[in-house]
Amino acid sequence: MAEMQNGERSILVVGGGMSGLSAALEAAEAGFQVFIVDKEAYLGGRVARMNKYFPKLCPPNCGLEINFRRIKNNPLIRFFTMTEVEKITGEAGNFDVTLKVAPRYVNAKCTGCGLCAEAATTEIANPFNYGLDTVKAAYLPHDFAFPMRYVIAPEVIGSEEASRIKAACPYGAVDLEMQPATFDLKVGAIVWATGWEPYEAAKIAYYGFGKNKNVITNVMMERLAAQNGPTAGKIVRPSDGAPVNKIAFVQCAGSRDENHLPYCSGICCLASLKQATYLLEENPAANATIFYIDIRALGKYEDFYTKVQADERVALIKGKAGEITENPETGMVTVQVEDQATGRILKDEFDLVVLATGMVPGSASCKVPADVAYDEHGFILGSQPVAGIIGAGCVRRPVDVATSVQDATAAALKAIQATFRR
Ligand SMILES: Cc1cc2nc3c(=O)[nH]c(=O)nc-3n(C[C@H](O)[C@H](O)[C@H](O)COP(=O)(O)OP(=O)(O)OC[C@H]3O[C@@H](n4cnc5c(N)ncnc54)[C@H](O)[C@@H]3O)c2cc1C
Repeated sequence: MAEMQNGERSILVVGGGMSGLSAALEAAEAGFQVFIVDKEAYLGGRVARMNKYFPKLCPPNCGLEINFRRIKNNPLIRFFTMTEVEKITGEAGNFDVTLKVAPRYVNAKCTGCGLCAEAATTEIANPFNYGLDTVKAAYLPHDFAFPMRYVIAPEVIGSEEASRIKAACPYGAVDLEMQPATFDLKVGAIVWATGWEPYEAAKIAYYGFGKNKNVITNVMMERLAAQNGPTAGKIVRPSDGAPVNKIAFVQCAGSRDENHLPYCSGICCLASLKQATYLLEENPAANATIFYIDIRALGKYEDFYTKVQADERVALIKGKAGEITENPETGMVTVQVEDQATGRILKDEFDLVVLATGMVPGSASCKVPADVAYDEHGFILGSQPVAGIIGAGCVRRPVDVATSVQDATAAALKAIQATFRR
């Protein structure tokens, strides 16, 4: 693709999660040309993968759908999925950016009919569901994906199966010859909103994540509870599909720990309180135990905390969980913890244990290809050596959606100002 246009008055937004979408819409609705790029095959970020999100506990679609409609109706916004930034040169008001697009093997003629998936036989781990189930090698990223367009997994490219997938499409939408491509943009400012990644739970060896089947992470719990998740919303044990009657949440799994993530992500306590309600609503006879160091529920979230705390089916025990083991015969998971109120060592068995892992900035593993300043954990700093590259949302610090949206609005204003700099 050729260089697309003069950079004046145009803004690149990297990351199409809640922060990136908000920054893009604010800037475009103020009259600026905006380009959104996201490395995934769909927009919406981590929120798209939740079951419900606080404060209103609505499904992700209710917030995302409005943003997608605004994007569709705004001719000033263009977006590119499966795209990452390769190179940035220049300065505020005049950046040259090179973008790299991974092949999707499906073009814009796709109607989302699913005939390609019917023709596919290979199953791959479902990335949207954090590998809790599999999908066909021709797949829609998820039921409400935006754009609503299939992806062919690179694993089958070059095989007879790929030819069958192509032949099954009546619209000529499968393009097996697609190659990685690069294109250039000129923009006046860049909003970097690449969000967060879950801390790698397997690094906390004594919790046995990956070895113990009924030990999952909080992001997996969102998928397990979601109607469009691997079990159609039924919260069951991954080992055998048995119902969950007794669940434990282990707070600060790796967080506030010098050996892992020294900081508090601020959201995980609320996420576990929320996830306890997922189970209790589905199975009123169930009970939930939350092992915590301190419960962090700031501002208006205090009410949510006290409401969940008041439920007699919820036990909050102050104490950092030690070793977690699973009985291979029964699948029951034992959590050992020192109850700080009594000083006693507790050992209890659960059907399912959820590790409340913290949030790692997306900018830690994938740095901005420019002179950008980070804190010691990889979060992008507010003040930058190069004006016109502005961090927004969880790439700056772990926050909730409402705060991400506010931060993105501020980033949009800073980006608009930067476009006038030359
Ligand atoms: C378990 C859990 C539950 C939560 N529940 C809630 C809740 O109920 N309510 C609430 O308000 N908050 C909740 N949060 C916090 C919420 O997830 C964040 O506030 C929100 O995701 C922030 O949006 P973001 O756009 O900054 O980041 P993200 O959602 O992470 O979006 C970042 C986007 O950038 C893209 N990207 C990443 N790297 C690149 C790259 N190199 N190039 C191009 N694109 C890239 C990603 O694909 C993604 O689309 C929860 C957090 C956790 C851990």
